Parts: sequence; C-alpha cells; structure tokens
Amino acid sequence: MQAATAQVKFEHRPNANPMSESQKAKAFEDLGFGTLFSDHMAVVRWSADKGWHSAEITARAPFPVDPASAVLHYAQEIFEGMKAYRTADDRVVLFRPEQNARRFAASAERMAMPQLPEELFMQAVEELVRIDASWIPKGEGSSLYLRPFMFAAETFLGVRPAKEYIFCVVASPVGPYFKGGAKAVTLWVTETYTRAAKGGTGAAKCGGNYAASLVAQAEASSQGCDQVVFLDAAEHRWVEELGGMNIFFVMNDGSLVTPPLNGAILPGITRASLIALARDNGIAVNERPYSFEEWQADAASGKLREAFACGTAAVVAGIGTVRHAGGEFKIGNGETGLLTEKLRNDLTGIQRGEAVDKHGWVYPLAGA
Ligand SMILES: *Cc1c(COP(=O)(O)O)cnc(C)c1O
Repeated sequence: MQAATAQVKFEHRPNANPMSESQKAKAFEDLGFGTLFSDHMAVVRWSADKGWHSAEITARAPFPVDPASAVLHYAQEIFEGMKAYRTADDRVVLFRPEQNARRFAASAERMAMPQLPEELFMQAVEELVRIDASWIPKGEGSSLYLRPFMFAAETFLGVRPAKEYIFCVVASPVGPYFKGGAKAVTLWVTETYTRAAKGGTGAAKCGGNYAASLVAQAEASSQGCDQVVFLDAAEHRWVEELGGMNIFFVMNDGSLVTPPLNGAILPGITRASLIALARDNGIAVNERPYSFEEWQADAASGKLREAFACGTAAVVAGIGTVRHAGGEFKIGNGETGLLTEKLRNDLTGIQRGEAVDKHGWVYPLAGA
C-alpha cells in the first residue's frame, strides 16, 4: 500500500495565539502526563486518489469528524509514542526516532492503512518539535512527549479499509509517568482477560489494543494495583507484557529474561535498547517464554532478584509486588532493584545526551 510520494512540503500556519512564556513557565511547575499540549500540530492527509497531500504545521485544533467517519465505527487507528529532550548543553534531541517511523509503517500495514513514508514521518515530527521547541521542559524526568497517530477519516459505513486518512502529530510536555516517581509498582496478573492472540494485532501499536486492555486495567486498579500484566491467550500460562510496557526479569545469576517477540507482543524500542545496553555490560539476555508458574516459584526461591517494566512513557519502572486471584508475592525486597536502577540511569543518561552514545541512538535536531 506504499504510495509513491514526491517530496512533500509542509505549509506553515503558526498559531496566532501561542501561550505566553510566563503562562507556560507556570504550567511547567506541575507537569502531569498528557494533559497539557503545545501550540501546534503537524497534519498530513491521505486519500486513495491523491496519496499523501496537504502537509501542514498549524495551530493545534479539533478535527471536524463526521458521525459516519470510519474510525468511529471500525477503529482503524494507530499511534506512536516518543520524546524530545532538551540536553544540559541546550541541544534538542530525539531518541531513535527512525525506529518509531519504521514501527508506524508496520502498524499501518497490519491495520490495512497506507504506509506513511518514513522520511515524511520524520519530517512531521522534526518540524513540529522545531516550532514548539520552547515547549520542551528541562526538569529531571521531564520531556516533550510526541504522539504521532493516524486514523480512517472516510465518511463510510461499509466494512473495508478506508480510502481517506489523517496523520497527525501532537506534543505534550510531561513529567514522570508514575506519580510515585521511582517507587516500585504493583502489578495485577489478570487471569480473566487477554490482550492479544496469535494472528491478532498485538504487535501493532493500535488504539484497539488499548481499548481491549482497559477493563483489565480497571480490574487492576480495583485490586489496588498500578498496572496489569497479561498472560498469553492460548494457554493463559506465559507472561507477555503490560497494557503499554514490556517486561523483564533479573535472575540471581545476573542474567535477564524477557518474553520473546511472538507476534502478540509489542516490539518496544525501550525493550530493544535495554537488551543492547545489558549485552554491552556483559549481561546475558535470554529472550524466552517465561511462565507465571515459574515467576511465582522463582520469586519464592529467590532465583528471581528483580523485575521491571519498560516503555517510552515510564522508561523503566521497578516491579515490587505482584498480585493475582490466588494471592500476592514480592520480588526481592519489594523495591526497585539495583540492576533495574542502573539500566534506567544508563538509558536516561543516553537519552538526555549525558552519557556516551556508542550505538548512535541520539538524534540531534538541527535548528531547534
Ligand atoms: C508502546 C508500547 C510498548 C513500549 O514500546 P516503546 O517503544 O518502548 O515505547 C510496550 N507495549 C505496548 C503494548 C505498547 O503499546
């Protein structure tokens, strides 16, 4: 479905009423996650007859959506999550953005949507970050969260891939994802719900996966847990991932275990980066199926020393306690472990341009 695209030029229509610097400074004093948005958005449209067209950087504003718009009925929607950082030496950097561009195209393919050329994805993100560079907060643990997404915008109730789409990028200055900061999280293992099955959409970053996870997340909340962890759909036995984060186990021989990408798990960029960083440090990483049974036994015997969840939004979050229908158990002393902390510091050091970037993951944004 890749549309042949000539170089697309973004039309710039700057916001006539941008937020004042003093208002912004005030808003930055208490940053939550995903509640405050920058002045602009990037938009590119696609139609079956024109391909990608009407690229623009414009004031952030609602889209008029027809009640029969396809996305409202059949959920043809995908998204990405990435961050722009302001470094201590005042550069603006992104982290492996080409990986997000590539995954976005893969998600589009799975959802029978047109694949946005990777250069166009990059161009939209870069132009938005450049115009809203003053929206990148500087505080510890804060960044400008970028949300590229695409949805079926055709007015049509028949069931088939839509013939019109809107691609958009919005930006939100954010603080730490979990209110408790570095405190270890409590997970709920749902034995009622699953997130994704073989042949399904688990490996695509689509809104529908999140819609399907919300009732399980609500179940987790009602059990006093921060996040839900899903087991595989076929056997309800193998640990897969959280609603929006991948999972790692730190064994007492110092090795890491993480479930293999089996088509039902989202291939996280944080996951891939942590695997590489661990291997750089001489740590063995085993991508292998890990059962809930094994997890309980290893936590009880002490064979399991630490566990953590990871993703762009929360980066790395230690897992302290695991609750399930049959009871609960602690991992280690119930707090964020030492290797978890080291991997988080190593990764955030690179992301913020403070540590040596030997893999060339940091993407400096010129002119911001
Ligand atoms: C986005 C996401 C992740 C994490 O991916 P990153 O690229 O590390 O941000 C993990 N699981 C799910 C289900 C996700 O949607």
